[in-house]
Amino acid sequence: MGNFLFRVPPVIDFGWGRRDSVGTAVAQFGSRCVIVTTERLHQNTPMIEAMQRRLHESHVLSTVYDGVKPNPTVDMMDSGAAVAQSFRADVILGVGGGSAMDAAKAVALGATNPGSTWDYRLFGERKISNRVLPVVTVGTTAGTGSHVSPVSVLTNSDLNSKFAIVDYRLSPVWAIVDPELTLSVPPHVTAATGFDVFAHAFESTLHPNASPFVNLAAERALRLVAQFLPRAVQDGNDVEARIAMAEADTLAGICITNAGTTLPHGIAMAIGGHAPRVMHGAALAAVYPAVMRFTWADAITQFSHLYQILRNSPVLADGDPEQASRAVDLVEDFLAQIGLADTVDKLGIDSDILAAIVKDTFALPDYSVNPKVPSMDDVRDILSAGSTTVG
Ligand code: NAD
Repeated sequence: MGNFLFRVPPVIDFGWGRRDSVGTAVAQFGSRCVIVTTERLHQNTPMIEAMQRRLHESHVLSTVYDGVKPNPTVDMMDSGAAVAQSFRADVILGVGGGSAMDAAKAVALGATNPGSTWDYRLFGERKISNRVLPVVTVGTTAGTGSHVSPVSVLTNSDLNSKFAIVDYRLSPVWAIVDPELTLSVPPHVTAATGFDVFAHAFESTLHPNASPFVNLAAERALRLVAQFLPRAVQDGNDVEARIAMAEADTLAGICITNAGTTLPHGIAMAIGGHAPRVMHGAALAAVYPAVMRFTWADAITQFSHLYQILRNSPVLADGDPEQASRAVDLVEDFLAQIGLADTVDKLGIDSDILAAIVKDTFALPDYSVNPKVPSMDDVRDILSAGSTTVG
């Protein structure tokens, strides 16, 4: 067995109704808290108000920054950081899906460090020089694993570029995972966020940093997604399915924290930069079968294992090329079952931007750790796997 490094993420407080522990959780880290969330969750649900009450009971002063929208932009992160500065916050609470939790991390960074949060992206101009404020999270989707990852994804709308800040100082210190909060997630969002879980787990097994611990967590996450995501999409009130997906999300987040994502994420991030209305998980689904066809012959063992998992069979040590190639068909069937488009042309993206998506795929490192490293022509072929012509 090779050497490996495995980071155990924050304390995970997992369970039905656990959001009620938010006051005592946050009070461990500070007494002045900015709640970072979306307007939709703040205005349309009593959840944020209830959390403020819990914080108050634990002697934590709080204010709400609800300027986050899906696929959050640098401006949203920087505005949140300004709120945290003027409130003299000493702890940040992210409440929502990946967008709110990622924004909370960027706010925690921007509150104490100079310049724009964009400057701290991968390969960016600045390095973190001051202590990042502690981040506590309460997730409301089962998708991104952001509650256990050191990643904050942000979009620069001037450059149409979606990038990530990756630094372990951004990792939340305490993650409350309360599957009850996901009951209200509508079917399409359940499907898209749930497929992100699948992608995190599977791509982590393909990544050069995969280890026995990563593979173990990934197998469990993939089995849970295969069994329970279709049920959660079909019936949002399926409690068992929602709990299983929250567990899968957390395990898959641990996988990306310790290994990472590969080509599908590289392309999906580029799609998100140019077409922010497309949900991240929907962009992933649209490129998945084509990327799998491109990759399977260079990762026979992992693709065979995926086949076995999707067939609900035990995982066998040796890879089988026949099974590996058929894993692609099984994923196509799965996408049909959860109602996600399986080619890019079905996303309704303007064909003018496809050339820029090809180019931007190569801005992030994900493509370079794919078992088969693509050329620009290969990515063009993947994007045109439906019927679109890519310029
Ligand atoms: P999201 O946070 O953007 O939420 C999607 C939609 O669902 C929003 O309209 C939101 O208001 C709504 N929503 C959220 N919770 C709800 C609930 N309980 N009930 C009803 N509606 C609800 O979606 P997401 O997929 O969780 O996050 C996507 C973002 O996370 C993207 O920017 C993506 O790039 C990023 N991401 C981050 C990581 C990471 O490691 N940090 C990993 C993958 C993706």
